[in-house]
Amino acid sequence: MLIVMKPQASTAQIGAVVEKIHALGLAAHEIPGAQRVAIGITGNRGALDPEAFASLPGVADAIRVSQPFKLVSREVKEEDTVIEVGGSRLGGMGLAIIAGPCSVESEEQILEVARGVKESGATFLRGGAFKPRTSPYEFQGLGEAGLKLLALAREKTGLKVVTEVMDTEDLPLVADYADVLQLGARNMQNFSLLRRLGKLGKPVLLKRGASATIKEWLMAAEYIVSAGNYEVALCERGIRTFETMTRNTLDLNAVPVLKVLTHLPVIVDPSHGIGVRRHVPAMARAAIAAGADGLIIEVHPHPDQALSDGHQSLSLPEFADLMRAVRVIAGAIGRPV
Ligand code: PEP
Ligand code: MN
Repeated sequence: MLIVMKPQASTAQIGAVVEKIHALGLAAHEIPGAQRVAIGITGNRGALDPEAFASLPGVADAIRVSQPFKLVSREVKEEDTVIEVGGSRLGGMGLAIIAGPCSVESEEQILEVARGVKESGATFLRGGAFKPRTSPYEFQGLGEAGLKLLALAREKTGLKVVTEVMDTEDLPLVADYADVLQLGARNMQNFSLLRRLGKLGKPVLLKRGASATIKEWLMAAEYIVSAGNYEVALCERGIRTFETMTRNTLDLNAVPVLKVLTHLPVIVDPSHGIGVRRHVPAMARAAIAAGADGLIIEVHPHPDQALSDGHQSLSLPEFADLMRAVRVIAGAIGRPV
């Protein structure tokens, strides 16, 4: 249920609605919005009676929310969520361009790539310090040393850092360094991690699980938001299908579908989505044309020497070319980059 307050509702009237919700043993969530105050109710097992709230002073309307994902749905919040990250943004008219290596490997590598992607127009730096690898024998990331190198790259370039957190144990450490915490595909339904991210005052980039439906993905986002953190961006990174010519199948259907269902920003990862370097630019262009709010792209100064995901990483000149094409498409649909 969503309680929409009248524009002139007083703080005391809002407080009285919240109190009534608490008295019923339910949770009240103030929905951030430019025009009006709205309060989402969660925790009820059966349907609530709108009349019980509609008659309270200061209430304009009490609306049933039909979707199972309540707080992330457009029914509850019409305006797009825009996440401010110290001068850069996820969501809104401008495109967020997150670029950098799959893994942080060395000071030289991360500084070269950070400077290069910034020059081409990236707005965030990505790089994994804790890596979820399919094989335990593959490079697992530099851990805290990698986080320190990301902080150094941020200091030198001003780019805000997006990096993955793999488990609750590492969360405080990763949160100390990251500007945006990436929750990887393999962890999309790690419910204890989702709840912990909900208590943290940092934005989250929530990647779609390789075999998660859009509904499951939105329910995962709901875990974070219902725990108190509204700063969630969704990232489509490809799903597992019967196709073997590509690493995954980038589900660009998800972009327009999500834009209707949710107010959260939608970022697309064509690097993991198709997993083949030469095809990444085409899918990046397609993602922007489909209405994505941004891209996350793997870029390495020497892709052939990368310790992870080199086969899908672009070189710096390839990334510069991609950005030129993306600018043309963004311009055609009226979005600045
Ligand atoms: C990554 O971004 O390098 C990564 C491991 O992504 P995903 O969780 O989408 O596989
Ligand atoms: Mn990767």
